[in-house]
Amino acid sequence: MKKELEEMLVTYKRLVETVGISSAEKVFLYKQRQDLWGQIRQIIKEHPKSIQMAIYRSAHPERAFAQWLRQRDKNRNRKVEVLTHYGGGKLACIKCGYTNVSALSIDHIEGGGNKQRKSTLRASSSFYRWLKSEGYPSGYQTLCMNCQFVKRFEREEHH
Ligand SMILES: [Zn+2]
Repeated sequence: MKKELEEMLVTYKRLVETVGISSAEKVFLYKQRQDLWGQIRQIIKEHPKSIQMAIYRSAHPERAFAQWLRQRDKNRNRKVEVLTHYGGGKLACIKCGYTNVSALSIDHIEGGGNKQRKSTLRASSSFYRWLKSEGYPSGYQTLCMNCQFVKRFEREEHH
């Protein structure tokens, strides 16, 4: 069964290569591809979702790439939106006004030493998604790396 699937995928990818042929031939190949993909889908339906996705990506690299680009743009736009909200309506550090987006991130105002301080979480797209889906909870602000560093330094001095 596995061998059969591999052969189907090879055939499928060959059908994608439609450079330098007439449009009638393209339509014909397109039909063939659709039929074949329908058969492939029947076979991979039995597999776990992750394997289905891997097969999909390998069969449609161009679509997977376009999807990746869309997701990246979506994440970037959401990040800008969230940073602007917590920057008081400006895409800038709330303390010093620095505007370079790659140096800006969300600071947990009262968060000291707990899990929220983990910058990997705070910089991740899932954290921006979470803030937005929660309707922008209070207690956060947009800071640049420099101001975050200064804040941490000052806090440690007081201990
Ligand atoms: Zn700053």
